[in-house]
Amino acid sequence: MANSGKIGVSTKDLFPIIKKFLYSDHDIFLREIVSNAVDATQKLKVLASSGEFKGETGSLKVTVKADKDAGTLTVSDNGIGMTEEEVEKYINQIAFSGAEEFLEKHKDDAATIIGHFGLGFYSSFMVSDSVDIITKSYKEGAQAVKWSCKGETEYTIEPAERSERGTDIVMHISEDEKEFLEDSKIKALLEKYCKFLPIEIVYGKKQEWKDGKYVDTDEDNVINDTKPAWTKKPSELKEEDYSNFYHQLYPMAEDPLFHIHLNVDYPFTLTGILYFPKINNRFEIQKNKIQLYCNQVYVTDTVEGIVPDYLTLLHGVIDSPDIPLNVSRSYLQSDRKVKQISSHITKKVADSLSDIFKNNRSEYEEKWNDLKIFIQYGMLTDEKFQERAMKIVMVQNTEKKFYTLEEYKELIKDNQTDKDNKVIALYATNVEEQYSYIQNAKSRGYDVLVMDGQLDTHFIALLEQKDENVRYVRVDSDVIDKLIQKADAKQTTFTAEEQEEMRMVFDTQLPKGEAMYHVTFEAMGADAEPVIVTRSEFMRRMKDMAAMNPQMSYFGSMGDQYNLVVNTDHPLSQRVLSEEKSALGIAIEPLTTEIQTLNGQIAEIDTLNKDVKADEIPQSDKDRKADLQKQIDSLKEKKSELLSNYGKDNKLVGQLIDLALLANGLLKGEALSKFVKRSVELI
Ligand code: ADP
Repeated sequence: MANSGKIGVSTKDLFPIIKKFLYSDHDIFLREIVSNAVDATQKLKVLASSGEFKGETGSLKVTVKADKDAGTLTVSDNGIGMTEEEVEKYINQIAFSGAEEFLEKHKDDAATIIGHFGLGFYSSFMVSDSVDIITKSYKEGAQAVKWSCKGETEYTIEPAERSERGTDIVMHISEDEKEFLEDSKIKALLEKYCKFLPIEIVYGKKQEWKDGKYVDTDEDNVINDTKPAWTKKPSELKEEDYSNFYHQLYPMAEDPLFHIHLNVDYPFTLTGILYFPKINNRFEIQKNKIQLYCNQVYVTDTVEGIVPDYLTLLHGVIDSPDIPLNVSRSYLQSDRKVKQISSHITKKVADSLSDIFKNNRSEYEEKWNDLKIFIQYGMLTDEKFQERAMKIVMVQNTEKKFYTLEEYKELIKDNQTDKDNKVIALYATNVEEQYSYIQNAKSRGYDVLVMDGQLDTHFIALLEQKDENVRYVRVDSDVIDKLIQKADAKQTTFTAEEQEEMRMVFDTQLPKGEAMYHVTFEAMGADAEPVIVTRSEFMRRMKDMAAMNPQMSYFGSMGDQYNLVVNTDHPLSQRVLSEEKSALGIAIEPLTTEIQTLNGQIAEIDTLNKDVKADEIPQSDKDRKADLQKQIDSLKEKKSELLSNYGKDNKLVGQLIDLALLANGLLKGEALSKFVKRSVELI
């Protein structure tokens, strides 16, 4: 006799919500149904070992079968099964207090609803018009029953035939979900969600090649590995097993650098294996992610919030029943257990790195270039990790030697401490482009680091913040005497007047474009280059940061700024000055004298009025000053015109500027070919 009744859910909206709002996640139904089946078999195992179940468990397994003609997908198990009362209790009574508000509040969040209600089984209705449960309890003399429901709140339950204990979940797949009857789709879902379930999952038969085609054999096709590496003890595993498991997870990836086996059972349960991947390209990092499992059931590969940010770049699996799965990300991050798990992982990772560093420094250095990005990212984003990693983070110099921060400070402190007692670490971001600066620094006995990584700009800022006694200066950011200023710099021999004239001469041949050049004068010694280009550490850092931070777009929109430094000790610079003087002296000197006279007159007026308030200065004086200033401006203009005309065709000036630009890789295109032409002419 068939019974019928109403599913005890306190809201009629449940099914529409399952069907409609859970739509985006509908792939997960198979995971839910299969893991229920796995649970049922595992429960039987437990009952058998406690003696409560005395029969034969046999070989426990779950079978997935699609029948295209009947339009059904069936998941069968030989687990504990259910009696009619149990179906009533576990399947029908899904209502509990507060259901209605809860559904309303979370109707857009499928995972939360499923988790909260234990709606695992009901997710089958996302893809089915109706679902049958045919089940027979393990209990002696139990009667098999069939429960059917058409996705309404009505169901029927009646006696049924089933020879063995266990359960079949028969899903009558709806018309627009027919893809779930396709072999390829089912295989893909099983591969994604069921690959490491602890009980054998059978899908079809193993096939063999016979008479020119594939045919089924008698052997079950088991799609999962019931004992994946992470469930074993580290002592049971060899290096090779770890590597094999890695390739099981990511068949296309290159061998990882090394692994970390996680194995905790107090105060939370966590197992897993994390791998430091070899980074060949960004694409791979994003494609292969850490997979999160809950008792071997695949949950997600979005582990943000559970694993510290920088470790999401790692590969591998973590498995923990203590991670609340079906909750929002923000809730996850505030969960105490999750916090503990996250800091445990950080500690384990830092410890493993320290071990390798201590026990096998040469291996560590060999792998450094791949490790660098993880470690720096970690140090920049996680204070705990930063503390631990400070001792094992490496810097590398242009000789390709590695140092810890402490070692490096020790290395340079004698020769690279400036007059203010700061240790100056010099670095290059491009060894080729900054070659001449590096050579210059080396000729002083300075060491130069290579800081060409993606995160090095931020990393340098962090290091300076952590140790205020060390400053990092790019090797081309100033003239060598000023990079590490040991005593007050030697004064230039060019007078202010001469500097102004030279500036005008050089200005005429500076590159015109986005970048801005500012001509300065330094006494750098006769052996140094006649003209060099430097780029202020401060401005460059600002621009680098702006490139990564939209709030600083002001700096980003500015052109690059460079200094063109004229070495006033160099004979060629001195020649430019003396040639200019002899060519223009007669024309310019009277102008300069006149400007001086006029400036003198302005100064006189100012002294006269020095005790008078600004608004009480006689108008006649103001007018006179304005008139004098006008005359000065026009004289200056004349002077500037003369100097510009002189400068713009001056081959020596052009050559000096271009050589300096060339040394910085700043001479390109037309300017470069002009330079080549001019050089030939000069030869
Ligand atoms: P949950 O698994 O979160 O408890 P479900 O809706 O998936 O929620 O299942 C409800 C209950 O139905 C289960 O707890 C279990 O007692 C019972 N059940 C579901 N599937 C099976 C099965 N294949 N065999 C035995 N019992 C099952």
